[in-house]
Amino acid sequence: MKTFEFSRPADPAAAIAAAARAKTAQQGADVRFLAGGTTLIDLMKLNVETPALVVDINRLPLNKIEVTPEGGLKIGATVRNSELAYHQTVQRDYAVLSQALLAGASAQIRNMATTAGNLLQRTRCMYFRDTAMLCNKREPGTGCSAITGINRTLAILGTSEYCIATNPSDMCVALAALEATIHVQGPKGIRAIAIGDFHLLPGNTPQRETELEPGELITHVTLPPPLAGSKQVYLKLRDRSSYEFALASAAVVIMVAGGNVTRARVALGGVGTKPWRSSEAETVLAGQPADATSFREAAEAALRDAKPQSENGFKIDLAKRCLAHALQMAATA
Ligand SMILES: Cc1cc2nc3c(=O)[nH]c(=O)nc-3n(C[C@H](O)[C@H](O)[C@H](O)COP(=O)(O)OP(=O)(O)OC[C@H]3O[C@@H](n4cnc5c(N)ncnc54)[C@H](O)[C@@H]3O)c2cc1C
Ligand code: SF4
Repeated sequence: MKTFEFSRPADPAAAIAAAARAKTAQQGADVRFLAGGTTLIDLMKLNVETPALVVDINRLPLNKIEVTPEGGLKIGATVRNSELAYHQTVQRDYAVLSQALLAGASAQIRNMATTAGNLLQRTRCMYFRDTAMLCNKREPGTGCSAITGINRTLAILGTSEYCIATNPSDMCVALAALEATIHVQGPKGIRAIAIGDFHLLPGNTPQRETELEPGELITHVTLPPPLAGSKQVYLKLRDRSSYEFALASAAVVIMVAGGNVTRARVALGGVGTKPWRSSEAETVLAGQPADATSFREAAEAALRDAKPQSENGFKIDLAKRCLAHALQMAATA
């Protein structure tokens, strides 16, 4: 690990001022915030991240979960994944989020991992994590080793000829289905970014993964008021039943009345280069009978644009089955 300076400010303004010195908030940033450290420290040990300054944000007052005046939920950036997953309101009103968090990593990692850190966790593509290999995301313009290499776990939606890395987060898939908003504070003030706009497709700049600018600190995430009577399910399929990233996952929030789907919010994980909201599946479901035929048609629509690589064609059928099954589970819950 390269040497670096360390600071531990007590207020957000000082943290932002320190981070604003960075030229970028993306890959290669020379200033990084430290939350739980479960992504950042790993990548620093591998020399994939080499910040000159690490700003520890654990003393900032960003660790609360509160109900908003509108009846939604405000989740502080440094709230631990385990605390969020077991919070009474989350378990009752946003069950898909609790389920997604508990499907991720291990109990020990969830005790450290934070809301903002989870939003910004990096891909598990093995070439990204190995500085001996060519990788456009780590070093723009060098090439993508995965396209002609080992790509079984990588993405089939939202890929480009420059990068096919999967976004590995479970939490973000649930946040996409819940239509969360990310709130940031930076040198130019505060702004709110819809979860669907927060993560970027790789295009020809895979090193740029999010909307964040230098110095911008995620302060909290908000969820809209819960949909009364909605059924929510997060289903994750993986190579082993715990401590493993998704090969395919589905977060569904649906409302059913008189046997028909009146509202559906659907997102997929493990298959996209970003947490993958499927408006195609939602459109197919709207107003249709809540039955296996509609669920299969929604799954077909969700994967219609999938582009498999040499080793991950199996994910297309896996993701379809995952989504159809999650919808069935939700409808009969
Ligand atoms: C072995 C292992 C297994 C895992 N399995 C899973 C899994 O199955 N599913 C899953 O979803 N995840 C999994 N994870 C990933 C884990 O969820 C993330 O590492 C964790 O959520 C990151 O949170 P953190 O607080 O530790 O982030 P950190 O490592 O502290 O930070 C991550 C990034 O976010 C930035 N950052 C942090 N807070 C802020 C902020 N407030 N504003 C701006 N930038 C910020 C940091 O600068 C850094 O770039 C696994 C991790 C490990 C190590
Ligand atoms: S898929 Fe993306 S992260 Fe993986 S080697 Fe290619 S460019 Fe790098």
